[in-house]
Amino acid sequence: MHSDNIYDIIIVGGGPGGLSAGIYAMRAAMKTVLIENGAPGGQMAINKAIENYPGFIDVNGFELSEKFLEHAKWYGLEILQQEAAAIEPGIEFHSVRLANGITLNGYTIILAPGGLSRTLGVPGEVENLGRGVSYCATCDGFFFRGKPVAVVGGGDTALEEALYLSNIASEVHLIHRRSEFRAGRILQQRIGMDPKINVNLDTVVTNINSNANGVSSVAIKNGQGSEKELHVEGIFIFIGFSANNRLVPKGIKMNANGYVLTDEKCESNICGIFAIGDLREKYANQIVVAAADGCISALAAARAVEMRKAGFTACKMQRR
Ligand code: NAP
Repeated sequence: MHSDNIYDIIIVGGGPGGLSAGIYAMRAAMKTVLIENGAPGGQMAINKAIENYPGFIDVNGFELSEKFLEHAKWYGLEILQQEAAAIEPGIEFHSVRLANGITLNGYTIILAPGGLSRTLGVPGEVENLGRGVSYCATCDGFFFRGKPVAVVGGGDTALEEALYLSNIASEVHLIHRRSEFRAGRILQQRIGMDPKINVNLDTVVTNINSNANGVSSVAIKNGQGSEKELHVEGIFIFIGFSANNRLVPKGIKMNANGYVLTDEKCESNICGIFAIGDLREKYANQIVVAAADGCISALAAARAVEMRKAGFTACKMQRR
C-alpha cells in the first residue's frame, strides 16, 4: 500500500459539513483529503440569499461557500476534484475507490454527500430557482412577507411548511395531487383551521409562470381536467427529500427513509465511518447544523485515528 494514499481522515463531500470537517481535521493536525466532484458548497452554493447562518444577516450562498472553501484551504486542506465511486469498510483502514480507479485508504472516513429535494419537473421550475421557486421555507419564506405563495405536497413537511408560511405570506395555496393528505391528522386539522390556507386537492401544477421580477403565477389542473391560474409570487415545493446515500456501504444502519443512524459523535455503527449533514438522521437540515456535524465528526475522527494508530480497533476500544 503506497503511503501517499493513506490518510488519517478522508472526507467525502464538499458542502458546509464536509468543509467544516476539513477545517477541524486540519486544526487537529490530521492528514486529511476532501473528495468533491462538483463545485464546493453543495446545495448551499445555489441559495441566492442565506439569512439564517449566524454572523451573516444576508449572504449569497455562493459567497458563503467560497468563504468556507477559503477557510479550509488556509489550513492546507487537500481537495481532490474526483468522483468517489465506492466505500469499503476495513479492519485497519477503510477505503474510498475513486472513479479514476485509484483507491485511497483512511483510518477514518467522514461521509458528507448531502441530500436532494425532489423536483416537480414542470416548465418554469428550474428557470425560476431562486426567483420564487424554493425548496426551503426557513431559508426563503421571509422574502414573501405579505405576498401570496403556493405550497406543493401532501406530506408532513408540506403541511408544516404551509403553516409556517401562513404566518408570513398574505395567503397560501396548498396544492396536493391526491384527494387525501399523507400528512398526520393533527397537521391536517391545523391546516383546516387556518383561514389563510386554501387547499387544492386532487390538483397538480402544470406550469410555473414568471415575469421580470420572478414567479408571477402557477397553472394548476384538477382531476376533472379543469384548469386555472393562481396569482402567487413564490412556490415552495415539498414533495420529499432524499439523502444522497448512494455511497453508504452495506452494513451501515439507516432508517426507513434512507438516513444514516449515528451516535452523538456522528459515528455510524461501523467504527471510524461517520455520516454528517443531510445524510444523517436528525431534527433539522440546516447549513449551521451540517457545519456543526462537521466539527463534531472531525474531532471524534481525530480521536479515533489516535486510538486506531495505538492499536485499538474500534469504539469499544478493544486491542487488535
Ligand atoms: P413524504 O411523506 O414522502 O411526502 C411527499 C409528498 O409529496 C406526498 O404527499 C406525495 O404525494 C407528494 N409527491 C411526491 N412526488 C410528487 C410529485 N412528483 N408531484 C406532486 N406531489 C408529489 O415527504 P415529507 O413530507 O418530506 O416527509 C418525509 C418523512 O419525514 C415522512 O416520513 C414524514 O412523516 C417525516 N416528517 C415528519 C415530520 C413530523 O413528524 N413533524 C415533519 C416533516 C417530515 P402522495 O401522497 O400522493 O404520494
